[in-house]
Amino acid sequence: MQQSEISLKEIYRAKERISSIAWQTPLIPSPSLSELTGDSVYLKYEGLQPTGSFKIRGAANKLLSLSEEEKSRGVIAFSTGNHGRAVAAVAKQLGIRAVICLSNRVPQYRVEAMRQLGAEVAVHGVSQDEAYAYAIELQREQKLTMIKPFDDPFIIAGQGTIGLELMEDRPDIDTAIVPVSGGGLVAGIAFALKSADPSLRVIGVSMECAPAMYHCLKEGRPVEIEEKDSLADALLGGIGLDNRYTFPMTQTYVDDMVLVSEDEIARGMFFALDKHHLVVEGSGAVGIAALLSGKTANLGKNIAVVMSGSNVDIALLTRIAVEQQSPGT
Ligand SMILES: *Cc1c(COP(=O)(O)O)cnc(C)c1O
Repeated sequence: MQQSEISLKEIYRAKERISSIAWQTPLIPSPSLSELTGDSVYLKYEGLQPTGSFKIRGAANKLLSLSEEEKSRGVIAFSTGNHGRAVAAVAKQLGIRAVICLSNRVPQYRVEAMRQLGAEVAVHGVSQDEAYAYAIELQREQKLTMIKPFDDPFIIAGQGTIGLELMEDRPDIDTAIVPVSGGGLVAGIAFALKSADPSLRVIGVSMECAPAMYHCLKEGRPVEIEEKDSLADALLGGIGLDNRYTFPMTQTYVDDMVLVSEDEIARGMFFALDKHHLVVEGSGAVGIAALLSGKTANLGKNIAVVMSGSNVDIALLTRIAVEQQSPGT
């Protein structure tokens, strides 16, 4: 693939390439959300993937596309968690050396999870930017290949395989609701769906407290935003001031952006647990949160909600479940 282009054909190629590493996840009908909205709502549950998120798709597509020489030198990634875990797991499966750089903001259980996956973990700095700068340094020193979390055509094509599966499982899907951080997930899905049928709608969802892509779209260019803590921790971080792919693709292909509050995210997580007995992390619950909040407009009749991951601290999920069961106490 030319670095500068992404095509529907490349997304189909990605689907074939990653088939021995990533699952085709189920699209689960949600009677309760369907009743609430008056439409047919389906949940795409990526929490079942190896390492608990869709990030395995992009990571597998990227690592499998490296040259033999690049594979023998090893790879490096910087990540708030799920991207790092996915890169570590795929690298291990393919016998490639992986170094993962993290900031001090990343929860300890995620750091441990990555060590257990066999990656070398380097913790550095208090922000994503500082961890990234350090990763660049290591990459140069050790001639590793940087595996970006979203702004790479192979990563975008890998995440786009979700779009193919949605169309395969339910050809009548007319709307996809997708969590957004750096935009690899939403760009890939939107590109796949709109290449097949430009009338399909894609709605992005981020958290109110630090919605990087939302501000960039408003400004018409990549901008930096302040980092905050959020239940949707996998959505934290900027889109990169040198963004080449996901920003223009999101501008072109995403119809609308919705923002949800921390309380709405908690409600979304509880809803998945209560109504579907599914564990979903905050970032994976923003789509349900958006539907529950009634903030989504102009939806179609058949709606797919992407539940992007399940990596949540069980103590946190338990606390949320107790709080949501007895609101106001
Ligand atoms: C990475 C991630 C996202 C956001 O994906 P982008 O491609 O960065 O927009 C959403 N949910 C989960 C669980 C993630 O790990």
